[in-house]
Amino acid sequence: PPGLTAPMLAEWLREFARLVSEHEDQLNSLDAAIGDADHGTNLTRGFEAVAANLRPGTYPAALLTDAGHIIINKTGGAAGPLFGTFFLGLADAVGNNPLTPTTFTTGLQAGLTGVVTRGRAEPGDKTMYDTLAPAITALTSSITALARASTTDQGGPNATPTHAPTTGQHDPGATLSQASTTGQHGSVAAFTYALQAARRAAEAGRDATIPMLARKGRASYLGERTIGHQDPGATSAALLFTAAATALPL
Ligand code: ADP
Ligand code: MG
Ligand code: MG
Repeated sequence: PPGLTAPMLAEWLREFARLVSEHEDQLNSLDAAIGDADHGTNLTRGFEAVAANLRPGTYPAALLTDAGHIIINKTGGAAGPLFGTFFLGLADAVGNNPLTPTTFTTGLQAGLTGVVTRGRAEPGDKTMYDTLAPAITALTSSITALARASTTDQGGPNATPTHAPTTGQHDPGATLSQASTTGQHGSVAAFTYALQAARRAAEAGRDATIPMLARKGRASYLGERTIGHQDPGATSAALLFTAAATALPL
């Protein structure tokens, strides 16, 4: 695969900006229940500025660094610096070459490390972490399976799929080894499947915030009253993986 270029990453950011503004009212309503009703407004302002100021001719790291700074400057709230830090951590990790699935994934992990360093969120605190962490874990295990499949299985004419084609529920490992039997195009499909696995994990992580008691940010002041409400930051973070699954397949 050619790898993820700056224009492809710009497409990801534009798709996220589009989804955030489409969901602005929903994100504000979720924040109204356990915060101050501005999460959709904050993120829409920040990511519209990103989308308007992207320089698609730049290198991946430069593009992502610009995005991180714009987000920090324009978004506001608790989520602005956290999302900005996420993109700056990703930028620092990736360098200027097109990203492979592996460097993209390790870059996302570096972004999450930045979010944790800044916000000290732990699993189950009812924050964006509860979406980002399982999504990145799912992507990492899918990509690892992809790398293993492409080194142990060259996908020659005698390669036999070990699993029948799956529909609906599927095991990413099975899908990846199946896809690898078609050679290079197989690993293209495999990255697409990995992004879809990450999206499903993100959505499950988002939904899992509903019964949690908020322990970070503004919502933590409401204590028990946050139980039963979906976290707004976990909801917007899931849209980042929806956008990736739409815009990034190689
Ligand atoms: P504010 O609370 O300042 O109005 P937003 O409404 O834009 O900011 O963002 C709120 C979201 O930020 C929360 O739903 C939560 O997911 C996320 N958040 C808040 N504090 C933290 C933290 N310390 N670590 C990770 N995420 C956090
Ligand atoms: Mg808010
Ligand atoms: Mg606010």
